[in-house]
Amino acid sequence: MRKFDDSYRHKGLRKKLMDILREKGITDENVLSAMNNIPRHFFLDTALDNIAYEDRAFPIAEGQTISQPYTVAYQSQLLQVKPQDKILEIGTGSIYQASVLAEMGAKVYTIERQKKLFEKTKEYIFKSQYSNLKFFYGDGFEGLPTYAPFDKVIITAAAPFIPPKLIDQLKPGGKMIIPVNEGEQQRMLRITKNIDGSTLEESFNNFSFVPMLAGKNG
Ligand code: SAH
Repeated sequence: MRKFDDSYRHKGLRKKLMDILREKGITDENVLSAMNNIPRHFFLDTALDNIAYEDRAFPIAEGQTISQPYTVAYQSQLLQVKPQDKILEIGTGSIYQASVLAEMGAKVYTIERQKKLFEKTKEYIFKSQYSNLKFFYGDGFEGLPTYAPFDKVIITAAAPFIPPKLIDQLKPGGKMIIPVNEGEQQRMLRITKNIDGSTLEESFNNFSFVPMLAGKNG
């Protein structure tokens, strides 16, 4: 296994990245401090070490991507994370977004549909540090009925529509952050489930994600 090194240089680059995120409008200090604590370069191929703190997405295995830091910060901020929140994430990918939420003190349940990416979570280097982070292999459209209801749901792939089962698995008063398809890009939506089960929809900026696909792969 790769020997990890979180050097002063990496820490410095990370701090600069947080300044960039602030300039782009991220104000939630809990999000920024969690992201400042997590060595993003550990989640990427060693070849990308020198550019791991640029504000951009990178390829990971299986044709998937690690989201751009700004996107991770934006979604995490919209989620209004509180410590102890029970959060369902769809699209584990590199585990970076899930780690940010775990670092913020949430109980995180993350699902990945690609078997090979799920298998990689078994070698997750922060396993002992984040006992509040649990991995599942499955189809995000189905959610995790056994563990429902959740305070929050975050979808990190481009959803063709708002999955009804995920609304069902949200607590009354709970919130879902979901990028929903609009042609080439996706509109970031925040859905709040009211006490009577009805939903309120807020619309934010456009982003570009890999597609949320139905069924498991592998
Ligand atoms: N949160 C990730 C982003 C990864 S990209 C990170 O921080 O790196 C989106 C991921 O969603 C991909 O790994 C893709 O395989 C996964 N995905 C797509 N559709 C899915 C579905 N229906 N259920 C679970 N995972 C899905």
